[in-house]
Amino acid sequence: MDSQRLADELKKILPAERVLAGSLDRKMYSYDSSFHARFNSFIPDAVVLPRSTAEVSGIMRFASSHNVPVVPRGAGSGETCGCLATSGGIVLDLSGWDTIDEVDVSNMQAFVRPGVVHYRLNEHLADFGLFFPPDPGSTRMCTIGGMVANNSSGLRAVKYGATEQYILGLEVVMPDGSVIITGGVNCRALKNVSGLNLTKLFVGSEGILGVITRIRLRVWPRPKARGIAMAVFDSLDEAPAAVLDVYQSGILPSGIEILDSSAIQAVNIYKPEINLPAAEAILIFEVDGNPAGVEWEGLKIAEIVKKRARSVEWTTDKDRMADLWRGRGVVAMAAARLRPECSRIFAGEDISVPLSRVTEALRRIKDLGREFGITVVNYGHIGDGNVHTAPVINLENSEEVERAKGLADAIHRLAIELGGSTTGEHGVGAVRNQYALAEHGEAANVMKRIKEALDPGNIMNPGKLLPPGGE
Ligand SMILES: Cc1cc2nc3c(=O)[nH]c(=O)nc-3n(C[C@H](O)[C@H](O)[C@H](O)COP(=O)(O)OP(=O)(O)OC[C@H]3O[C@@H](n4cnc5c(N)ncnc54)[C@H](O)[C@@H]3O)c2cc1C
Repeated sequence: MDSQRLADELKKILPAERVLAGSLDRKMYSYDSSFHARFNSFIPDAVVLPRSTAEVSGIMRFASSHNVPVVPRGAGSGETCGCLATSGGIVLDLSGWDTIDEVDVSNMQAFVRPGVVHYRLNEHLADFGLFFPPDPGSTRMCTIGGMVANNSSGLRAVKYGATEQYILGLEVVMPDGSVIITGGVNCRALKNVSGLNLTKLFVGSEGILGVITRIRLRVWPRPKARGIAMAVFDSLDEAPAAVLDVYQSGILPSGIEILDSSAIQAVNIYKPEINLPAAEAILIFEVDGNPAGVEWEGLKIAEIVKKRARSVEWTTDKDRMADLWRGRGVVAMAAARLRPECSRIFAGEDISVPLSRVTEALRRIKDLGREFGITVVNYGHIGDGNVHTAPVINLENSEEVERAKGLADAIHRLAIELGGSTTGEHGVGAVRNQYALAEHGEAANVMKRIKEALDPGNIMNPGKLLPPGGE
């Protein structure tokens, strides 16, 4: 169906001003934040801006009866082409459907529509002394719908886990337009083990099984205090060892971040005033909770880590914490400064490995960088083995771009070899599905069978997450 006819049909379901079919409008939806999207043009045939479950249901009924692909989209901050129309069809832009329907304080939960931005939700919850713990770096952009679909998390996943741990139930519009509520139709209980856990099935399903239109999420009491310890290491091996020492002492920090020597160098070039000490690694431990507990844990961490580190500083002073955090805060932007006129790309950027193999992963990624002739900067959430690698390349140099793709492939394969995953946070989308069989074995085929059962026409976000071929 051509773009104009498709738009005309969609205007029978939604007000005309919420159906976009102009070529410029559609082009605006042809990219997300991924490296892959820079070199490919995935222009949808139409874009719709639904504002109700009934509208989404109408679109899905139309799409399934005409076999038109549908791709849900939040803020487009994904790194994997997940929200792009790689097979054409309709993009469902849910970002404007952003109401916080209810904060049910007495039941410690909230109900939101998919387009609510993560940062705004937490600002709103702060008024009630509550928070939604998953904390992606894209907090000011990403939507709760996108977070649920990608099972996002962030640096505090070490203590609080990922989005999946906070989703109590979902309203989902299925590919045929029917609407289901997972987690109990009228349920407001925090515990519920009845039935198959469909909520978990949809969390992390990256839009391939249905459209998430309402989210019942668990909220937690906001911690009253926070503190930070920064430790500087002369040996990379000592950093993960120090993390284990802290765990073995019975302390679970809210975050444990690492900057290796490449990241330290990048930060100091980008913002010389931050002036991080030259070292093989810097660890930043964050502790949260009640003031007395935070103080005790922070001092204990400093005492433990001192045995392996060149220096450790512990503080609960707000300004000093902000100072200590600055290097970590800017590292993603700083990476590109290692090579003038070059860009940091998101490719192979997100592997996770067992804690026992973090050092090996960091070393081998550096070796791979040398092998492929690509500058890499390493940092990440060492507390749960989630390594962020920032390749820095000249995007105008096509030969270098090809080498960067080779590097990303090698990093993904390294993650699997080390007993980890190709993605700890950002998801699979259209850039990591080629590793699905290597990573999941026969379970990848079971995922395919679930998809076939729920979406026999393969209209929901085709070409994503599952091993390619045979769809
Ligand atoms: C600077 C930066 C920092 C980042 N930091 C982190 C981080 O710390 N942790 C992390 O996990 N990620 C991070 N990301 C990646 C990204 O922000 C997350 O994956 C985020 O959850 C995506 O949300 P979004 O609203 O942008 O979704 P989109 O990118 O629009 O979509 C992502 C996927 O979700 C699907 N989807 C979106 N909404 C729905 C819906 N309502 N129903 C069904 N499917 C849907 C899409 O089809 C797509 O497959 C970062 C990205 C950037 C650019």
